[in-house]
Amino acid sequence: MKTYLQIIINHVGEQTPTIILHVGSQKYIFNCSENFMRFQKFNKIKLVQGICFFLTRLSSETLDGLIPNMTLLFCNAMGLQDKIYGPQKLVNMFQDMKSKFYIKCLPYSFLGFETNKLENNKQMSNFLLGINDMASIFGLKYDDQFSNNFFQDKQKANAYLYEKFKQQSLNKNNFLNDARQMINEQGNYQDAEIEVVPIYVQSKSEDVLAYLIKFQKQECKMNKEKLKSFNIPGKMMKEFQQNKQIELDGKIIKLQEVLEDPQPAQQLLIFDCLSEECVKNIINCEDISYTTTQDSFVYAVIHMTPIHILKSHHYELFLKKFDVNTLHIFVNSHIKETQIPQNNHSDTFLHVQATNIIAEQFPENFPKISENTKNYKSESEFYEIELNQLFPYLKNKTISKKNYQLIFNSKQAGQAYQPILSQKNTKKYFLTEEFQSEAEKLKVDLVQEMKSNEFILFDAQIRQNTKNYDPHIYFLGTSCMTPTIFRNNSSILIYEQSLKQGIMLDCGEGTYYQLLNQFGEAECQEVLRNLKLIVLTHAHSDHYLGFQSIVYQRHKAFQTAFNEGKKFFTEEDQLMYIALPWSLAPWYGVVDCYMEKMNCKLIYFQDYNGQNLNDLFNQYNKKPCCDNQVQETELKEQKQFPNEMISKEEEIIKENQESFNEDQNIQDENYNSDEEREDNRRFNAKIRIMQLSNYLKSDQTEIHQLKQDFNQFLLVSLGIQEIKFIPVIHCPQAFGIVFQHTSGIKISYSGDTRPCIEFAQAAEDSDLMIHEGTFNQNMQEHAKYAKHSTAFEAIDIAIQAKAKALVLTHLSKRHSKLDLGDFSDQSIEKNRFIKYRVSQALDHLAFQLSKYSTVPFISKCVHSLFPNQDDEY
Ligand SMILES: [Zn+2]
Ligand SMILES: [Zn+2]
Repeated sequence: MKTYLQIIINHVGEQTPTIILHVGSQKYIFNCSENFMRFQKFNKIKLVQGICFFLTRLSSETLDGLIPNMTLLFCNAMGLQDKIYGPQKLVNMFQDMKSKFYIKCLPYSFLGFETNKLENNKQMSNFLLGINDMASIFGLKYDDQFSNNFFQDKQKANAYLYEKFKQQSLNKNNFLNDARQMINEQGNYQDAEIEVVPIYVQSKSEDVLAYLIKFQKQECKMNKEKLKSFNIPGKMMKEFQQNKQIELDGKIIKLQEVLEDPQPAQQLLIFDCLSEECVKNIINCEDISYTTTQDSFVYAVIHMTPIHILKSHHYELFLKKFDVNTLHIFVNSHIKETQIPQNNHSDTFLHVQATNIIAEQFPENFPKISENTKNYKSESEFYEIELNQLFPYLKNKTISKKNYQLIFNSKQAGQAYQPILSQKNTKKYFLTEEFQSEAEKLKVDLVQEMKSNEFILFDAQIRQNTKNYDPHIYFLGTSCMTPTIFRNNSSILIYEQSLKQGIMLDCGEGTYYQLLNQFGEAECQEVLRNLKLIVLTHAHSDHYLGFQSIVYQRHKAFQTAFNEGKKFFTEEDQLMYIALPWSLAPWYGVVDCYMEKMNCKLIYFQDYNGQNLNDLFNQYNKKPCCDNQVQETELKEQKQFPNEMISKEEEIIKENQESFNEDQNIQDENYNSDEEREDNRRFNAKIRIMQLSNYLKSDQTEIHQLKQDFNQFLLVSLGIQEIKFIPVIHCPQAFGIVFQHTSGIKISYSGDTRPCIEFAQAAEDSDLMIHEGTFNQNMQEHAKYAKHSTAFEAIDIAIQAKAKALVLTHLSKRHSKLDLGDFSDQSIEKNRFIKYRVSQALDHLAFQLSKYSTVPFISKCVHSLFPNQDDEY
């Protein structure tokens, strides 16, 4: 059985990598950190049915990549046999999360390991059943009895599912996915290949698990030398193997006599070490046989340990307990590699490399992110530790690697595991020479344009306007739903460094690492500390799944500053607001309750706008607000649009498209009958109201006070005089945002939307408008269908709003850039606007508002170097 281990560290500074154990075709994934999905192809990960996930703890560090991955699997009609194991609270967390992700959680079965392992697994109550069949999952949507029980009580939900599918399970294959089936008498996970022993190493404040993986003892192979000495004729070998013995010249030869010496079964330890308490607990753990015996041998330990704990006396004791042949793998990115061969790898990621080449041309607009990545250092003496210096007694048995995956390959058990570096994708992303000549040519054009009156006037105007408030705008993520190598999910940072004012607009998964790449560690911490407001425009996962990690890292940044004695920050200094729609309240609740304490102040768009829950009821009961009343014939055509996520049967396509968006009203057109459509809307409304009533305040006076506090905060901390949240045309509860600084500067951001008149009105005279431009002009119909805008629709809105500058963002992965070439059917006026005022965003594009006038030209230049499809890279 081919077994190998893949350790995926997608980012510098990542403390908890994703660890994939491949045993034959079976995959076991230990933790799943941010951007797992984004770099899946890059890391050559092929997901299959029946994956088992194991979480060491519940934290943004360990599971931020899991949720988008669950959604992706669901949309490919996979994940039906997947099981998710972890600390005790795991089950309650997902039970609560189902109210947000509802149907997408249904295939999965969850089980929280007991702190005191039970003698009999039948008594186990800490689990959730999953359903093994897509049609049944969609059927449950219309099952009132189920959805009523579902949100209240996991035992009821389990019992109901069991009753409902018991009969089908008897007739056909198993309709239920049950994580308990894999739990053995000892309370450990066990299948034909491995046994996974959960070890609680810390359970006071936070449940932390280590995992000991025990492999099967391999059958011994025949030893050629021994075989030779017996001189057995080839034709008798079959008989020999079958009967385990043979008679040759009147002498009995037993099979054992020609076999290799038996090897002990191998074990792998995955140790997520948060504190010294964890070390003390694991030293005393009886499940681990530290000394090699005939039966077992710990061949590798993966250490996820902060350096100050690595340096402790207890850690030395812990390491010394192992056999000298045990391999120690340190996945702490602050440890210097010492034992890995230096050849055959490149130092940085391709997207970092590419951005870097661009940075050399336009250092101001693309700060050198590689410098931050390559010379990743901290002032702290703890960092960049040589392993040999740290553990002289473990010399030659330790490995650390930062920034890329390691594959440990063992062709057969019993053989030492040889670390090999995985081969990088060697395709060239950019031809530097071609790029340089192209860039230089465009630079010449730029200089020429700078002499034009149009340019000079605009430049003078914007410099004048930004005299008192001149923030930098950083594009941290510019992709539509599916991130690509070059574009991460949506996030924009508006940052005034000298005033210590930071505002983040949307925060897709992986935003923290984009920030880290952009600024480097030390500055990133400062930026985080100065971040005062995060706006999450709507409840689509590509716009909000990164916020918990940002908030978590922000708390850490204050802690670090405090530890280093830099400054004491008051509670007021640490205060941050999150502005969000009601629909995100349950998700915030789950994160705050199970992952990390958020300690943020919340302001809901609807509360701010003076809506109440009844408005929401009414919203769901009236006809969906569509700017495109679609005709029957058009409907048919729309159904034929290929959905990039799905390749299965049409029925699944239909169902998945509507469930892929958290708010299903978008794909209303997919329903066969009015009745079905109504059913769906009622279902959505019911779920939403049920969720929200748990989280929202209904006291109007209190809400009024919240609004006043928020306004005051904006004025004092950010110099914002007025802020508006405008309902836009996308999914229910989607908003655009417009704010005006006391200096008069006005900035507007559309979020995701069809062209929206109300937004244009509120954004009138914006100094900068950031608008989504998901599609090129030739995909207008698709834009209508998916409730997004084309680049030209966005431009029309900007012109209508008399915006001074427009940046287009949120690009579909169907194309790597927007086509903004001159169109003869456009008016001269419009073409001029496009030329001087419109730019398209790229990840890590940065500019100071006063210098915007050069951005359209630089953006054009940079994008001209991109092929049309990301796949061409
Ligand atoms: Zn989006
Ligand atoms: Zn969206």
